[in-house]
Amino acid sequence: RELVTTKVRLQQLAKELEEKNRRLETLANIDGLTEVYNHRYFQETLGREINRSIRYRRPLSLVLADVDLFKNFNDRYGHQTGDFILRETCRAMQNVLRQYDTLARYGGEEFAVLLPETTREEAEAVAEKLRKAVAEARFAEGKESYGVTMSCGVTCMEVGETLTNSELIERADKGLLAAKRKGRNQVICFTPKKGWFAKG
Ligand code: GH3
Ligand code: MG
Ligand code: MG
Repeated sequence: RELVTTKVRLQQLAKELEEKNRRLETLANIDGLTEVYNHRYFQETLGREINRSIRYRRPLSLVLADVDLFKNFNDRYGHQTGDFILRETCRAMQNVLRQYDTLARYGGEEFAVLLPETTREEAEAVAEKLRKAVAEARFAEGKESYGVTMSCGVTCMEVGETLTNSELIERADKGLLAAKRKGRNQVICFTPKKGWFAKG
């Protein structure tokens, strides 16, 4: 009987360990401040989605979103309020996204949104929705409320293209840079074949 009891106890412990490992694995993929996915998870998912999109001949779109003039915001209201804004900006973006979209903190005040099965036109529309949701939101903390805007670069790996992670990111980054240059709070799509596309 003692052996049976020990066996049952061991099975229980193994199950608990498995569950704890699963939870740790999830936590390792999450950004501590904003609680969206972190850079590492984003890169892994991007690699996986690129392969899947090539194999099944599906489009894959990427949005890079960067909060506008955030250094000024921090200087004016302090880093704590800045942190609060980054968390709230993520909540506002999550409300716009679908289940299969991946929202990640690329770094600092920059976010990446991976949109599987999404064409360039659809991705532009999603980016515009994200931009608008953030621009229109007022984030209340105590008695004060704050607002920020963000600029977005959009790109798509079209069917028939084969890109690396960094090639796709570089394209979205070109769109983002153009959005900043054009005055911020806007979405610019970059397509190598057709040049620049402005939206919003
Ligand atoms: P731009 O519109 O060109 O993007 O201007 P910017 O001021 O947003 O860009 P810049 O790269 O000059 O500054 C980024 C700022 O983002 C500076 C940094 O203090 C702030 N930032 C980055 N990460 C965090 C964070 O985790 N918390 C807070 N509060 N601020 C952060
Ligand atoms: Mg910025
Ligand atoms: Mg930045």
